[in-house]
Order: sequence, then C-alpha cells, then structure tokens
Amino acid sequence: MKKRTMIAFGLSLTMALSLCGTVAFAEEETEAESEAAAELVITEDVQEIIDRGVLRVGVKNAVVGFGYEDTLTGEYSGMEIDIANLIAEELGVETEFTTVTAATRTELLDSGDIDCVIATFTITDERKESWDFSTPYYTDYVTVLVEDSSEITTLEGLVDKTVGVSSGSTSARSLVEAMIDAELISGDDYDSETFDPALWTEGVSFQQYDDYPTISTALSAGEVDAFCVDKSILAIYKTEGRSYIDAEFAPQEYGVATTKDSGFSAYVDTLITEWLEDGTIDGFIETYELQ
Ligand code: GLU
Repeated sequence: MKKRTMIAFGLSLTMALSLCGTVAFAEEETEAESEAAAELVITEDVQEIIDRGVLRVGVKNAVVGFGYEDTLTGEYSGMEIDIANLIAEELGVETEFTTVTAATRTELLDSGDIDCVIATFTITDERKESWDFSTPYYTDYVTVLVEDSSEITTLEGLVDKTVGVSSGSTSARSLVEAMIDAELISGDDYDSETFDPALWTEGVSFQQYDDYPTISTALSAGEVDAFCVDKSILAIYKTEGRSYIDAEFAPQEYGVATTKDSGFSAYVDTLITEWLEDGTIDGFIETYELQ
C-alpha cells in the first residue's frame, strides 16, 4: 500500500512537519510523498474514533465472500470485513462488528451506534441524499431464486406472482423496472419517487421481510413464488432443488456508507480510492472468488 501524508485537523502540513524536523527535510519528503499518496485528514469525528480505540462497523453475517459470520467461532470473514479491518488499521484502532440487515443498517448509523456500514449497501441517488457513500468497491446484479418445482425460469414466468424481498432493499424496485423494460408489465403507473413495494400490484406483487433467512423459509413454504435480491446475497440460499431465473439486471454498486458530510466520509473515500488503484480491492475479489 502507498505511503501517505497525514494532516491533523487545523494544522497545515508544513507546520506539522516543521514541528518535528527541519523545513528543508520536510519539503523534500512532501514532494516525494505527494506523488505516491493521497491525503488523510484527521477531522474531529475521525479523532473521536481514534481516541475511542475502536471502529464500529455494520456488516452482513450471511453473505459469503462479503460479510459472513462463523456461528461456531463468532469470527467474521469476507471482503467487507477485510476492508473494515484495513480502515481500522489505518486509524490504529480495533474493529468491532455489528450484524446489520437492509432494514436496520441506516438506523444504526443514524443513531451513532456504528461509524460506517460495509454491508452490500447499494449506492443510489435517493440514499445519497441521506448518507455519504464511498467510491464503489464492487458491482453486483440483482437476480431471482425459485424452487425448480415452480418451473419459473425467466422474468416472464414471474408475471402475476408474489416475490419475497427484504425491507429497505432496492430489490422490488429493480425487479419492477426490469419487467417494465422487458415489456412484461406496463410502466404506466410506475413512479420511481413514490414506488412502494407494499402497494405495487401491477403484474407482480411483493412480500417484504426483515431478513433473508425468513424469505428463504417463505420460498420453501410456498408463501412466495420467488426470492429477489443481489446475486451475492442469494448464493447461500441456492440449495439443491432451487435455481436462478435466466436474468440478471440492475447493477448494484456497493459503497461504504458514512454519516452525511462527516470528515470520516472523506477519510474512507480516500482509502477506498487508493485500494482500488493499488490492486488491494482486486486482491480481495480474487481471494474470495467473487468474479
Ligand atoms: N444491495 C441491495 C440494497 O442495498 C440489497 C439489499 C441488501 O444489501 O441487503 O438494497
């Protein structure tokens, strides 16, 4: 990883360096470093994390390769866990993981229980109004899981069916848009600003659940005809006798979410950008065989 310049909030680089050594040495080092690295600014909120000694991160616990918790050991693993640990390493603090769902992750961030969410959290324009997102570190697609016995194999097979989705996710909206694009349903009543999965009944309807294991159970029980979400999340539920339909749609760019306009947002984005450039993120994708 690249070496970078760290600047304490309110203190210029020259001032900071001249306090620790000669100005001549500082200028030489600054020039060399500026070519190699971006700047991490320690704002008050970042300093708070450093002083606390712990970075509190909301992660998934059942998304293999992203955020997965071994129920026997309590250990988390996956690329989102590695990203969290690297951010903590930069800060010089420990990591504390909290399992979140699509329904709970933003509440926990807003209440200050966690410092960031690294949990297959798709960047959308609507969400960007409420939270900051880093540059995307991964792009997934939405798809649909069905029981083979349903004989549903395509988007067309979902017409007039009930689909299980998670509350607070992009899934229902993505599926409706894909079905409109495929001209399977009319988009006449679709308004992306007011769309509500609970109220949508045109050509497909939705049941919303708080977590993914419950949707999987509902699929087995025939309570829903299909289970729709990002492919990475579905992987663990694709057991014997279940298949994906023949359609992937709605690219989902995952970003690290932080409190809007916080100093920590800029801090995290600097790191993610650097890790995208220097191959660190590609290394995780390879390690967890994500592509
Ligand atoms: N990635 C999608 C979203 O952010 C699916 C839900 C999830 O991440 O749990 O809405």
